[in-house]
Amino acid sequence: MVSRVIPVDPFDLVIFGGTGDLARRKILPGLFRRFCSGQMPEGSQIIGAARSDIDDAEYRNMVSDAVEEFGGGRTCERGTLEAFLDTIHFVTTDAKGDGGWNELNGKMRPDCVRAFYFSVGPSLFGDLAERLHRFGLATPDSRIVVEKPFGHDLKSAKALNATLAQHFDEAQIYRIDHYLGKETVQNLMAVRFGNMLFEPLWNAQYVDHIQITVAETVGVGGRGSYYDKSGAMRDMVQNHLMQLLCLIAMEPPAKFDPDAVRDEKLKVIRALEPVDWHHVVRGQYGAARDAPSYREDVENPKSSTESFVAMKCHVSNWRWAGTPFYMRTGKRLKARTSEIAVVFKDAPHSIFGVDAGRHRNVLAIRLQPNEGMTLDVTIKEPGPGGMRLLDVPLDMSFAETLGAEAEEAPDAYERLIMDVIRGDQTLFMRGDEVEAAWAWTDPIIADWVMRNDVPKEYEPASSGPEDALMLMHRDGRKWREVKA
Ligand code: NAD
Repeated sequence: MVSRVIPVDPFDLVIFGGTGDLARRKILPGLFRRFCSGQMPEGSQIIGAARSDIDDAEYRNMVSDAVEEFGGGRTCERGTLEAFLDTIHFVTTDAKGDGGWNELNGKMRPDCVRAFYFSVGPSLFGDLAERLHRFGLATPDSRIVVEKPFGHDLKSAKALNATLAQHFDEAQIYRIDHYLGKETVQNLMAVRFGNMLFEPLWNAQYVDHIQITVAETVGVGGRGSYYDKSGAMRDMVQNHLMQLLCLIAMEPPAKFDPDAVRDEKLKVIRALEPVDWHHVVRGQYGAARDAPSYREDVENPKSSTESFVAMKCHVSNWRWAGTPFYMRTGKRLKARTSEIAVVFKDAPHSIFGVDAGRHRNVLAIRLQPNEGMTLDVTIKEPGPGGMRLLDVPLDMSFAETLGAEAEEAPDAYERLIMDVIRGDQTLFMRGDEVEAAWAWTDPIIADWVMRNDVPKEYEPASSGPEDALMLMHRDGRKWREVKA
C-alpha cells in the first residue's frame, strides 16, 4: 500500500509557549515527522515564541533535543533534521507585555497561511488574541489553535469563548481535542458510515449497551497541582470521553464537513439526560507498596478530587431511548487501554436451547494500545459431542493488516496541525459544543460539592472501585476486562 501525503500550502506557524512541555513532547516532534514525510512545504517556517531570552541557535538546539527524545523513533537523515531546523526561529515574546511583538510581526510573510498555536495556559488566551490584532499579526484568514482545558465550567468556557470571539471568528478558532485526531477515532466514523453492515443495527433495537473505557496505569505524576483542581471528570470526561460518545451516538451527517459533523455531535450532547447521582462512581487511588497514593502525589492529604470516574448515561432520542452508555476513566489502573465496545442484544430466540448459553456480538474498537477492531461472533465449538457454541473474535489489528501504512500514519497532533493549515475544522470542537458539554457536566460536579462527596479509594493496578463494578452488575451487565 502506498502512503499518500496530501500537500498543504506553505505556512508560518507561531507556537506561543514554544519552550513548554507540550511543544517539546508533541508539537515540534510531530512537525518534524510531517517534514520527514514531505508534507511540510518548502518555504514554511515555525516560530517559537515564549518569554525565554534565547536566540534561534539555542532554540534549534532545544528543538533538536526534543525531536531526539520524543520523535517516536522516526529516523531521518542527519541532513533532513538540519533542513528541518533551518525552518525554525525564535522570538522572545511576552504574552502579557508588548516586548517581542513587532519583531514577530516582521517575521510573518504575506502569502503564507498563518497559524498561531496557543500552547500556554488559558489565562493567556485573551492577552495573545488581543495582541495578535493590536500588533497587526492577525489577518482575516489566520487561525488560532487552543488547547484544553477549555474552561473549568460553563461560566469560564463562555467567558473564554467570548474573549476569543472579540478578536477571531469561530471559523478561525481550532479547539484541540487530540482524541479526535487519533486514527481509530476517525475510523469509528468510517466503520459506521462507510459500511452497510453496522448502521442498520446501530440503535436501541439491536444494541444492548455501549461501554467506553479510557484507562491509564500512570498516576498524576508532575501534573498534581493542576489535576487536583480538575479531576477525572473535567480532565477526561467533559472532553475526550464525551467526544467519543458523540461519535458513536450521532446521526449520520449529510457529508463529512465541519459544520455537518459538529451539528450532529452537538445534538447528542443536548440529548444527554441529566445523570442521577446513583449512576456516578468516583474513585481515588490509594498507595501501593512502591508507589504513593493520589493524596501523596498531589500533596494534599484531604483531597477529595477523583482520579477515577464511572457513570451510566442515556441519550434521550429515538435512536437510543433505553440503551445505556457506560463510561469510565481513571489513573493507576491495571492496564493502559482505551476502548469503545458496542454490545449487541441477544438473538431473539435460541434454536440451540438454554444449554447453549448466552452469546452476544460485540464490536470493540481499540484506541490504544494496538489500534484495531474486534467483532465477537458466535460459532460452533469444533469437535463432536453436539452443538456447543463459542464466541470468537474477528480480530483486526491495524498494524498487522495495514503494515507500514499504519505505522507511518501521523499521530493525533501531527494530523490535527496539518488540518489547521488546510483550514479543516471537522476534527475540532466548536464553541457551542464545548459549552453544551460543560452544561451537562457542571450539575454532576455541583452535586458532589453539595453532598461533600468523598471518592472511594481503590487499589492501584485494579479496575477501579468496587462500586464501579456494581454500577453494571446491578443492571445484569459487566465491564469488559481492563487489559493491555
Ligand atoms: P508549560 O508550563 O510546560 O509551558 C508553558 C509555556 O508558556 C512556556 O513556553 C512558557 O515560556 C510560556 N509562557 C508562560 N507565560 C508566558 C508569557 N507571559 N508570555 C509568553 N510565554 C509564556 O505548559 P505545557 O505543559 O506546555 O502546556 C501548555 C498548554 O497546553 C496548557 O494550557 C496545558 O493545559 C495544555 N496541555 C498540555 C498538555 C501536555 O501534555 N503538556 C496536554 C494537553 C494540554
